[in-house]
Amino acid sequence: MARIGFIGLGNMGLPMARNLVAAGHEVRAFDTQAPAVARAVAAGATAAADFGAVVAGAAAVITMLPAGQQVRDVYLGPGGIIGKAERGTLLIDCSTIDVETARAVHGTAATAGFDMLDAPVSGGVAGAEAATLTFMVGGSGQAFAAARPILEKMGKAVIHAGGPGNGQAAKICNNLILGVSMIGVCEAFVLAERLGLPAQTLFDISSKSSGQCWSMTSYCPVPGPVPASPANRDYRPGFAAAMMLKDLRLAEAAAESAGATIPLGHAATALYHKFVDGGHGNLDFSSIIKLIQEFPDGAAEKFLPPSTEN
Ligand code: NAD
Repeated sequence: MARIGFIGLGNMGLPMARNLVAAGHEVRAFDTQAPAVARAVAAGATAAADFGAVVAGAAAVITMLPAGQQVRDVYLGPGGIIGKAERGTLLIDCSTIDVETARAVHGTAATAGFDMLDAPVSGGVAGAEAATLTFMVGGSGQAFAAARPILEKMGKAVIHAGGPGNGQAAKICNNLILGVSMIGVCEAFVLAERLGLPAQTLFDISSKSSGQCWSMTSYCPVPGPVPASPANRDYRPGFAAAMMLKDLRLAEAAAESAGATIPLGHAATALYHKFVDGGHGNLDFSSIIKLIQEFPDGAAEKFLPPSTEN
């Protein structure tokens, strides 16, 4: 089994690192937050004091960081991974970030002689804990083949999406679906309540009908129908609303640069923006139902995308 450096031990990174330990890998853990490192050590990892200690003798380095800025800092910044790692170390970034940053970091890594992959994930904290994540991977076929046995210890599906940045492209499109579908499911539960239809009844019917989707059956935004969903623990994340806003903004930026039109994506971004601005960014993203429940009649109209009519 290999030595693996792991940077970013938050909601996702900690259980992913724990699964690598369980598979027999030697994991060197680093995070800017000492309690996060302590939790990784309790899970069987070894604490690394700095990037030099993370990369020393590592066959692979995995990062699971909040956003593109942290990924740039960790790989490209002073004393960053690309300056410290030994040649032959495989670099795998599992964070969800913009395609442009992913391709820029890939480019610098390649110039320095490293194989690199962007390998964002889907499946949430529950998937990270159960090692059932889906990895969508961008980079060379050779790097993908080398990473696959490691990623399979943390996920149930490891899919090559194409060249550098294509993993992030897949992730951004997936989370556009997720953000829009969660709001749709929340609207349906709020409407059902006003119509006198119990939440459990709507769930029993829609989970077996054409309204079925992950936001309903794995992550139901009302307490009760799906016991493991964040709604049953006061919307503790899970996947924070601020992270969903970040991903929807990535989708907006990607759509603008690629010339795609995403009207519901813009509406979803505006709703999450209002919610996060209201101080709810640390709650799970399914708690957007609180905003929808509190809207007075007609208030949502201002979140519609601008009319194209003259
Ligand atoms: P998180 O905020 O819980 O964890 C991020 C960790 O990175 C924190 O422990 C933080 O201290 C650490 N960190 C930040 N800057 C650092 C630096 N410069 N050096 C070292 N450590 C640093 O976030 P998360 O929920 O674990 O999400 C991580 C990534 O995974 C994000 O890009 C997110 O969009 C993506 N993601 C999250 C979920 C989910 O359900 N939470 C699902 C899929 C993808």
